[in-house]
Amino acid sequence: MNVIVLAWGGDGSAPTGPVQELLGAARRLAGAGGGSVVAAAFGPAAGAARSLIEYGADRVLTVEHDALAAADADAYVDAAEAVCKHVGDAVVLIPGDRLGWETAPRLAHRLDAGLVTDAIDVAVEDGRVVATKPVYGGKAHAKIAMRGASQAVLVRARTQAPLAPDAGRSGEIEAFAFEPGPNAGRVRVVEYKHEDTGDEVRLEEAKVVVSGGRGLGGPEPFQQLAEIAGLLGGAVGASLAAVDAGWVPASMQIGQTGKSVAPDLYIAVGISGASQHVAGISGAKTIVAINKDAEAPIFRVAHLGVVADYKDVLPALAEELRRVKG
Ligand SMILES: Cc1cc2nc3c(=O)[nH]c(=O)nc-3n(C[C@H](O)[C@H](O)[C@H](O)COP(=O)(O)OP(=O)(O)OC[C@H]3O[C@@H](n4cnc5c(N)ncnc54)[C@H](O)[C@@H]3O)c2cc1C
Repeated sequence: MNVIVLAWGGDGSAPTGPVQELLGAARRLAGAGGGSVVAAAFGPAAGAARSLIEYGADRVLTVEHDALAAADADAYVDAAEAVCKHVGDAVVLIPGDRLGWETAPRLAHRLDAGLVTDAIDVAVEDGRVVATKPVYGGKAHAKIAMRGASQAVLVRARTQAPLAPDAGRSGEIEAFAFEPGPNAGRVRVVEYKHEDTGDEVRLEEAKVVVSGGRGLGGPEPFQQLAEIAGLLGGAVGASLAAVDAGWVPASMQIGQTGKSVAPDLYIAVGISGASQHVAGISGAKTIVAINKDAEAPIFRVAHLGVVADYKDVLPALAEELRRVKG
């Protein structure tokens, strides 16, 4: 069984965190099925071709074209289709980022492949590739095996263990020529705007996420969350209620209609724990809830709970973290 990893993003100096994870997962799949790992490095990611081998690829196809300079999903679907058809039947692992979500269904259709989205695990069981994904708002996990020789899995970030890079690994690097189809370029990126959310760690890749909800009562307490997240090297998230209130941008929303996160530590402050919110944190390893209502549903999923007014807890928590960090 051959495994293709779609590698994009980053500045070309190293694979992004999610791509490193996919290479780790691909190695495990290929090892179990006796195949090889092919990384398709698109656009700027082609600069990291050697590094893709160090993280587990046997072969890297670099796909460079002006059309891939911006994250134009139409061009990326064309490029991914061309590479996958060139490599032949395989399991295609796709990063669970915005470009991945836009690309995966269209690519799977063109390859006549099955597709599992938002997978948190992918393994070989009884000779079949089985992808695991949270269902029913994260209350259960479904294991899905696909029919057919081509299969695609969109994998949630921070769910797979990457391999330690090995500078001694060898592999082939080959340039792959590609011409985008007529749809490429329909979407033109006019401008990139940097959103200043008070932290530089990407929410989906953060090891620690500190989230606030309606219980915070306004935008100001999010500064406190940002300070705590900063001390922990993490990022700040929010519930839909906080976004709807206009306290924080929609890019910070976590949940069913927001982002999915899988941090080692998730701190929910003033969040009730509605199923739609909890759906986005089912991959979190440890959940800590701070809520003044002991009956709040968040305590059903939390590993640790503090029943208190956040105003009493956050200053003490920040002070203790400052002290520990010296
Ligand atoms: C189709 C659909 C999709 C949705 N998608 C999402 C989604 O992606 N993400 C999401 O988050 N929601 C989503 N929702 C909304 C979801 O159902 C809830 O309405 C929302 O999550 C509630 O946000 P909250 O917990 O911040 O607010 P609330 O439910 O109002 O909870 C506030 C909590 O703060 C506590 N509190 C109040 N004051 C304090 C204090 N001083 N100290 C400590 N605790 C305090 C309260 O006890 C309460 O538990 C969706 C809903 C629908 C219908």
